[in-house]
Order: sequence, then structure tokens, then C-alpha cells
Amino acid sequence: MTFLVGLTGGIGSGKSTVAELFAQRGVALVDTDAIAHALTRPQGAAMAPIRLAFGDGVIGADGALDRAGMRSLVFSDRSAKAKLEAILHPLIRQQSAALCAAATDAPYVLLVVPLLVEAGGYRERADRILVVDCTEAVQISRVVARSGLTADAVKAIMATQASRSERCSAADDLVLNDGGLAALQPQVEALHLRYLQLACDKAHAGR
Ligand code: ADP
Repeated sequence: MTFLVGLTGGIGSGKSTVAELFAQRGVALVDTDAIAHALTRPQGAAMAPIRLAFGDGVIGADGALDRAGMRSLVFSDRSAKAKLEAILHPLIRQQSAALCAAATDAPYVLLVVPLLVEAGGYRERADRILVVDCTEAVQISRVVARSGLTADAVKAIMATQASRSERCSAADDLVLNDGGLAALQPQVEALHLRYLQLACDKAHAGR
């Protein structure tokens, strides 16, 4: 079994930025957000069950999920959220497991799961849990700059996610991302060397 690092962090913490630094070092990335997007594209594997559960109202003219429509439905109706997750989460778990298992050429796999702490089925699969951490104020200002959402809208999204302390207490390793990009490189390099060693130990133990 390939050595698996589960990467998580709150919205705007810098998960994608950190994941890219690992990818530059030859690590295989499996991104559950990208899988969720693919599942909800026109003809995506989740679209037939979504149509059945919610009707045509949440489906755009192109046959893909109407993300804005779904987001507002989910915000106003908790049962809609649970219903959507019951469709998407098993498919995401299944596909991410298949992609992780297929990444045999890489020294190890980084599985990016925004809701790793919140969703079941990931923590137990990962050999290490890596959390990208920054202050809530930094999260808010990054997401506002990136998306144009208001600070209140970002806070509302953050309120649906695990708290900073919940996430950090689930972590085996932390990347602190309050500063600039230059501060990330040495942290990623040190973790990468550590993971290469642990991956090697795991491969030898499995022989
Ligand atoms: P996440 O994937 O956790 O939502 P991203 O990696 O997309 O977060 O980062 C959110 C935004 O903040 C992006 O626009 C990204 O370019 C920027 N960003 C992330 N980390 C840093 C950093 N250390 N310095 C400057 N900008 C950063």
C-alpha cells in the first residue's frame, strides 16, 4: 500500500498552494474537490442520482450541476445538504481510493480533502494527517480577495467547517501559512523529506 498523506485545512488556508509545492517534488496529488467537480460535470456519475433526488431545478442548461443554485438550496435546507452529501461522498471516497491505489509510480500520495476532519472515511486511510493552518483573519482576507465574497459570507462558510482547534488537534503535522510564499518552501521541504523516509519504512515493513 502506497504511503498516504491526507492534507486538509479550512477554506483559504492555502491547501491548493501547499499541494502544488508537494506536486513540484514528484508527489502524486489526489484532490477530492477536483473529483467532486468531475462527478457533477455534464454526464458526471453523480448527475443522474442528483436529478432524481432534487429534480431539474438544480441542473444547468449544459447538464452540469448548477453550483450557485445548489449552494443556496443547501444553505437554506439542511436536509438538502445531507441528501447531496449522501450522493457525493461515497462516490468521492470510492474514486479517491481508486486514484490513490493507482499512483504506484510516485514515492507517496497526497490526498487533498477540505473536509477531512468533518467527513468520515479519510482519517483512517491516511498514514499522516497534514493540516495547513493560518489565522481566521488571514483565511477571510484571502478568500475575499480571491472570490469577491463578502467577509460575512466567508465567515458563514467557515462556520460550516471544523474549527481551527478541532482541525489542529487532528493533525500529525502542521504547515503554518500566515506569512508569504517564501515561508512555505522550507516547511514543505522538511515534511517531504520526512514523508519520503516514512514511505520507505512502510514499503520495507510491507515486504
Ligand atoms: P485553499 O485551497 O485552502 O482554499 P488556496 O491555496 O487556494 O487555499 O489559497 C487561497 C488564496 O490565498 C489563493 O489565492 C492563494 O494564491 C493565496 N495564498 C495562499 N497561501 C499564500 C501565501 N503563503 N502567500 C500569499 N498568498 C497565498
